[in-house]
Amino acid sequence: MRVISDEAYQALRDAVGEENVSREPAVLDAYAWQPFLNEDPGLWTARPEAVVLPGSTQEVQAVVRACNRQGLKFKALCTGWGVHAGPTAEGVVQVDLRRMDRILEIDEKNMIAVVEPYVSGAQLQAEAMRRGLNTHLIGAGPVCSPLASATSMHGVGHDGIYMSYSPRNVLGVEWVLPDGELLRLGTPGSGEGWFSGDGPGPSLRGIMRGASGAFGGLGVFTACALKLFNWPGPPVLKAEGAVIDSMVEQPPNMRFYGCVFHEAGDFADAVYEVGEAEIGYLCVRMTMGSFPMAMAPKLYRAIMRTRNVRSIVYDTLRYPLIILLAGDSMAELEYQEAVLRLIVNAHDGIILDMQAPPLGPMLPLNLIRASLIPIAFRLGGTFCTNLDENDALDSQMPWADAIAEVKRPWIERGAILDDGAENPYFVPYENNTWAHCEVVHMYSVHEEESLEALKPLSFLSTLEAVERCMTPLSVLTPEVRKALSPLAGHFNRWQKRISADFDPGQAADAGLYTAERDFETDKVDAEKARRFRELGEKLRWTEEGPPE
Ligand SMILES: Cc1cc2nc3c(=O)[nH]c(=O)nc-3n(C[C@H](O)[C@H](O)[C@H](O)COP(=O)(O)OP(=O)(O)OC[C@H]3O[C@@H](n4cnc5c(N)ncnc54)[C@H](O)[C@@H]3O)c2cc1C
Repeated sequence: MRVISDEAYQALRDAVGEENVSREPAVLDAYAWQPFLNEDPGLWTARPEAVVLPGSTQEVQAVVRACNRQGLKFKALCTGWGVHAGPTAEGVVQVDLRRMDRILEIDEKNMIAVVEPYVSGAQLQAEAMRRGLNTHLIGAGPVCSPLASATSMHGVGHDGIYMSYSPRNVLGVEWVLPDGELLRLGTPGSGEGWFSGDGPGPSLRGIMRGASGAFGGLGVFTACALKLFNWPGPPVLKAEGAVIDSMVEQPPNMRFYGCVFHEAGDFADAVYEVGEAEIGYLCVRMTMGSFPMAMAPKLYRAIMRTRNVRSIVYDTLRYPLIILLAGDSMAELEYQEAVLRLIVNAHDGIILDMQAPPLGPMLPLNLIRASLIPIAFRLGGTFCTNLDENDALDSQMPWADAIAEVKRPWIERGAILDDGAENPYFVPYENNTWAHCEVVHMYSVHEEESLEALKPLSFLSTLEAVERCMTPLSVLTPEVRKALSPLAGHFNRWQKRISADFDPGQAADAGLYTAERDFETDKVDAEKARRFRELGEKLRWTEEGPPE
């Protein structure tokens, strides 16, 4: 295990001050323990060589420059909600941004907020709501950093129908490049405020990130401006209790509905029409089973053993949708309700009014503030995503079914928990022509067989994606990146070129941005491994160099 040299440690100390740097083993291990989304059965990431807590953009620049001089790499971390925030190799300095936690500005007139990295979604939402505004929150919960989501990683949340996807909400950005130089993207670059992330001249937003993000592999973002959205609710969401026991007085101009369809086509057509009608403030498809699974795991296991009850939950109520309607007036709310009823009836669905206590009052905090996430861990301890996708509704429906089929044999052999196999997190984005879909699987980190199943499941989901010419979002692992890049314009060859041009010293930890590696196929069905290899030959996975 590498230990940082005294000289390098001194350079970091000079950058952030004595009290904001550490190389204490216990401190380093606290950053290396990362079980979530970690396919390595060991559940640890590489231990950082040191941790620094910069308090300003200038200190971040000094840290990055010190790393370049000392031959070290650096990796930014906001709230560290998963393996993606940890080092991917030895020789990495973890840059923990928790001291940079200020909301720098809220421009009510132009509906913009300017935030530092460690501002949490809850913090920003509370401040915005006081002003009749709201911020997009990702499904990972209100603890996460909107800046990390907007600049560096994914970005889907329950409110996508009204507030879209994080990278579509990012405006001006302050970016410490991998060589320590400071770049202000868009209008901040010419001192004209934060209202645009493009220009003057060619926009670099597409270099900063695309659908997935660089996961800390292209420098450190020290501030960014985010679009804010209309909030027709009260200035404060007064809540009693927490998560499933939370009670919020339902604002009169908002109503939650459950819509259930039996056929995939009816579900998709109805969601398309909801988009065309431009109604809905929040909308998410989760299986009916996810309620008992999260609220009463023991009861849920009993349901899953009871064939008829199980069939009601997973077959009769096959395609459910939760939608929040919010009007700036009662008349607008009534209009939206009438439109929703028309659409659901036209597609043979049923509509459930979800206001009645205790469920009704529990929904606002858990969906509008996305604070439901902790209960996703109740069934088995943790979960993992099998390659999430942003794509047209019509390709998302069969995608959810396909991954359910990938999971079924692993549920039958008890390697992963029985969640009915079909367990999508499905969110339509504004205008509903496209949507996010990821099918998760639940497991326990204490079950060896579950940990052994992680890589084969990732392989089989990737094979499914390649065979369907789909390019999932979460190209988090080097294996998935290598397999899917040829399907999407060889994006990774471009990312490698960007990394080489923007990071001549290769100081940023780009392990989750450009690294590639072959899948180990010794633990998967030989026939599937052979098909994967064949596809690889067809897709010329081995060819290097930038695309023509
Ligand atoms: C239970 C759970 C549910 C999740 N659900 C969702 C979901 O619904 N939608 C979704 O989009 N994601 C989801 N995620 C994934 C992920 O946690 C989030 O994407 C989120 O961005 C993490 O925010 P964070 O503040 O924890 O960032 P971190 O985990 O600290 O960082 C996220 C990534 O961005 C990089 N990064 C962070 N800050 C900076 C910076 N200032 N400069 C450069 N790079 C930086 C990090 O290196 C890391 O790769 C989920 C994760 C968990 C654990």
